[in-house]
Amino acid sequence: MTDVVPERVVWLDNVLVETAIIDTEDGARTEASPSAIKIVDGSFAEIRIGDSAPPSEAIVDADGLLLLPSLRDTHVHLDKTFYGGAWRAPVPGRFWLAEEERLLPEMSEAIPVRSNAILDLLISNGTTEVVAHCNVDHVIGTRNVERVLEVVRGRGDVGTEVVAYPQHGLQDGKIKPLLAQALRAGASVVGGLDPGSRERNVERTLETIFDLAVEYDVGVDLHLHDPGTLGLFELDRVIDYTIDAGWQGRVSLSNANALANADPGTVAAAAERLADARMAVGTTMAVGGPVIPIPALSAAGVAVSLGSDSITDILTPFGQGDILEQVWMLAQRFGWSDERRLAQSLLFGAGEPARWSVDGRRAWPSVGDRASFLLVRASCTAEAVARRSSRERVFRRGVRVS
Ligand SMILES: [Zn+2]
Repeated sequence: MTDVVPERVVWLDNVLVETAIIDTEDGARTEASPSAIKIVDGSFAEIRIGDSAPPSEAIVDADGLLLLPSLRDTHVHLDKTFYGGAWRAPVPGRFWLAEEERLLPEMSEAIPVRSNAILDLLISNGTTEVVAHCNVDHVIGTRNVERVLEVVRGRGDVGTEVVAYPQHGLQDGKIKPLLAQALRAGASVVGGLDPGSRERNVERTLETIFDLAVEYDVGVDLHLHDPGTLGLFELDRVIDYTIDAGWQGRVSLSNANALANADPGTVAAAAERLADARMAVGTTMAVGGPVIPIPALSAAGVAVSLGSDSITDILTPFGQGDILEQVWMLAQRFGWSDERRLAQSLLFGAGEPARWSVDGRRAWPSVGDRASFLLVRASCTAEAVARRSSRERVFRRGVRVS
């Protein structure tokens, strides 16, 4: 799995580094130069734009491939998937939660094989940081969390946060001790879902989740699928609880579907509150269906990220485990077909390192940054997004992982 680079110090030579997006008579164009980057102990230590590596040092030839920051998948269910096992399509018409209850024991047994297979898939597509939602429920208890933790602790090629996720609800308090047990076992985030439609008690649900977060000093990541005014009310209350707990910067929403069909004024007000509470929003791009107002959220300062969610499971056979594909789909959904907006769209797949300033500069790569990056066969970020260019090599903290 991990191709460990033995040298503590290595030069990446002949690597294409973007320097600016500039305006020309024919529209914007990205400038990039073959460059050399010194990596020491997993971080960038020296960057020579337009220059070569000095002789007599350990050198890795990047073959002129483009340097991009590595990708993050902020919502994936590693613990309940068919991927890595025999092919199986969803069965239409079956109530999926009952189907999940039936299949959980079998899927849980398969975690060592299947979650490793998904992680291999994600990494091969350029993802090196993952947020994994793991069931904690009446069927499986905390076994899925424990099994996934064992898998991720055995791998150095991907950073994984495990969310203790009560997919089948809190069940009048029955699941709370199990969530606590999962957090003691090493899950670093407490999850939850639809406090209105699923739990049927918004206040008690949010109290339970935030109590656990504060007691165990962990983040919160909520699935909010409820549409319309119910979903907007839940969103508002989650923001209230975040502020009341002093949990600013530690709360994420996986989906915030009520925002998809909200009017612009409502979206603007929600975005401002989310940004004030430093809350993040994750979403999954798909063909068709509503999409949350990513441009408005991002413009207000909300960190928006992308996740695979389901990969070949009871709900969908279509997940590809490819965040660059999700960025490609996002750019199409919002009509971002020009050089600048294509380049900027990578922000949602790679986070802050992929941010371009309004004058067409990017802070990454800088000396001191973690050396987690991809080498892709493209001339610039815009091309890599539009063409979903092939990921030739993937590095995490200076070590080649794919
Ligand atoms: Zn999910």
